[in-house]
Amino acid sequence: MSNDFLTKPVQSIKTIGPRRAAILQKAGIFTVKDLLYHFPRRYEDRTRLREAGACAHGETATLRGTVLTAQAIRPKRGLTVTKLALHDGLGVFYAVWFNQPYIKKNIPIGTKLYVTGKIERGFGAVQVMVEEYELDDGGESLSAGRLVPLYPLAGQLNQRLLRAIVKFALDELGGHTGDFLPEKLLRKFSLPLFREALATIHYPGNAEDAARARKRFIFEELFLYQFSLALCRREIARWEKAHRYLPEGKMTIAFLESLPYRLTAEQAKVWREISRDMESRFPMHRLLQGDVGSGKTVVSVLALLKAVESGLQGVLMAPTEILAEQHYYGMKSVLAPLGVEVALLTGGMRKKEKEELLERVSDGKVAVLVGTHALLQESVRFNKLGMTVVDEQHRFGVRQRAAFRSKGCWPDTLVMTATPIPRTLALTLYGDLDVSVIGELPPGRQPVKTYAVPHRLLARVYNLIREQVSQGRQAFIVCPLVEESEKVDLQAAVELAENLAAGEFRKWRVGLLHGRMKPFEKEDVMTSFRQGETKILVSTTVIEVGVDAPNATVMVILDADRFGLAQLHQLRGRVGRSAYQSYCVLVAGPKTEEGRARLKAMTRTTDGFALAEEDLRLRGPGEFYGTRQSGLPEFKIADLLADWKILQAAREEALAWISADPHLQRPESKVLLDEAKTRFNMGSGFTL
Ligand code: ADP
Ligand code: MG
Repeated sequence: MSNDFLTKPVQSIKTIGPRRAAILQKAGIFTVKDLLYHFPRRYEDRTRLREAGACAHGETATLRGTVLTAQAIRPKRGLTVTKLALHDGLGVFYAVWFNQPYIKKNIPIGTKLYVTGKIERGFGAVQVMVEEYELDDGGESLSAGRLVPLYPLAGQLNQRLLRAIVKFALDELGGHTGDFLPEKLLRKFSLPLFREALATIHYPGNAEDAARARKRFIFEELFLYQFSLALCRREIARWEKAHRYLPEGKMTIAFLESLPYRLTAEQAKVWREISRDMESRFPMHRLLQGDVGSGKTVVSVLALLKAVESGLQGVLMAPTEILAEQHYYGMKSVLAPLGVEVALLTGGMRKKEKEELLERVSDGKVAVLVGTHALLQESVRFNKLGMTVVDEQHRFGVRQRAAFRSKGCWPDTLVMTATPIPRTLALTLYGDLDVSVIGELPPGRQPVKTYAVPHRLLARVYNLIREQVSQGRQAFIVCPLVEESEKVDLQAAVELAENLAAGEFRKWRVGLLHGRMKPFEKEDVMTSFRQGETKILVSTTVIEVGVDAPNATVMVILDADRFGLAQLHQLRGRVGRSAYQSYCVLVAGPKTEEGRARLKAMTRTTDGFALAEEDLRLRGPGEFYGTRQSGLPEFKIADLLADWKILQAAREEALAWISADPHLQRPESKVLLDEAKTRFNMGSGFTL
């Protein structure tokens, strides 16, 4: 960027001293550029100044007038009403402020003023309940007579302050700055130049100009992101791996033979894709997508085993301890007979225990290490790490995925996600990955029958459980857990389990599972459930992801409207894992339209892909899976749902740009790289 004013701290802007700078910093605005990239959320059309006499009761309008009189009254304690009488050339109207006694002092009689607010008419008088005002100094107004920007606010920021300092910043920026987007692209998509777009997005002359400026920044943001992803990906492809795999050997064959089933055609297909990648000279970076229950685990075990068989180590990272434990015990039972040492690293391990384990890992004695993100700690070192698997990938971010790279010489990476991601999001999230899809469930599965019922029918739901358990099946009952009051909710789960064990289900063993339990306690409960001793498992959402107990055929979700669609689908995925008919009962009295829509979507389809799209539609990408968990970058202006066409164009252009200038030798490419680096720091994979 040719203009260094942009990178200066906000204090370099006129009128911003340390106090205002601190306010801005709290809102994440540090540099002039941050400020100018604090885009308006929308605009208010105040192009037409209104005449007081013509305003209707209840509407919001902007009026201009000269102050005739001012009074401040205190009708009761704690309330000050300031009332100015203004003349707009035709008649008198009143501007009213509450609890802002200084207004009277600040606006002397005779001042010309713009006021914006709700109109109240009564007893022949017109009053404006002032939301905003601006002195009319005869010059250009920032808050009246135009499309006025409305900014997202945070902390002590206010619209007037932002408008004023943005204007100062634009003035000081001057008329000419370079553009980091290549001219060719701007022309192709008819986008305005950087400087013009900045001025326009804050102070547009009309709605069309505003839209064009917005589009430029949306394109810019998505293009730079896709550019970063593409570089990241290329970086990965450039490094030849130090490790090599042997073709499938005895262990793999023995493992496949020990399975009680044959791989489905889809599993076999993705396994071929994965082993081909592993045998290539360059590191694998592949996403394995497959609906819940499609059998991704066995494929990842094959990949880990291939590493072990080639004298390398493998690691599997899961998002929750329960899931990590399940993978650990599952893998141990199939791999230990083949002489493979599998170990589990948990957060709750004692220091001594952990040290011993880590030593066996760095010695290379442990062949496969399973755990949660605790695996990313620096103290975890491998001897010869070849293969890393990340389960339930959508729970981790790009950066966490990249973290393993520093632990081995570019290990092969397989990331798995249970809920299919809509294509638009997949491009954004996984633009740096190859994708394999398991597109079918193992044979003999019947779709889970799903019902939404009100609380008063709970007795019937318990009948269903009794009936299924009498036939030898098992059931889950999930209680919601709201973070704010974890203790209270936990208590509810504990009580429910106790009541059911003593009442409705006294004939059977009822288990309880929640996140506060110690790892071994959880495993005891899960083992007892998997072995069929515990018939009914009451649980908080800790069982949400990955838990595999094929004999369970009933999933009851209490207060189901408190869960998002992705979560409901994950929970439902805990049943329907065998040839038996399974049931999912959503017990809820939804209070919102969206809650009802979610339950309806669940009863209508069991297709995870359709549900993910529906989720995206209902909540928007910002909320999809919860932003923080999704690994999605936080875009300032782009909306992945509304702007998916621009996203696609940006992706194509970014890929085309890099393939046309693979070594980024053009000056334009260097500028792009600099800008991309400051926006989306992708960690170790992002260097030239
Ligand atoms: P997910 O893809 O949700 O992780 P899992 O790997 O947990 O699914 O597998 C779901 C269930 O399907 C497990 O009980 C597993 O043993 C079983 N399974 C996996 N592959 C097959 C297959 N080819 N035939 C029959 N059952 C299978
Ligand atoms: Mg799984």
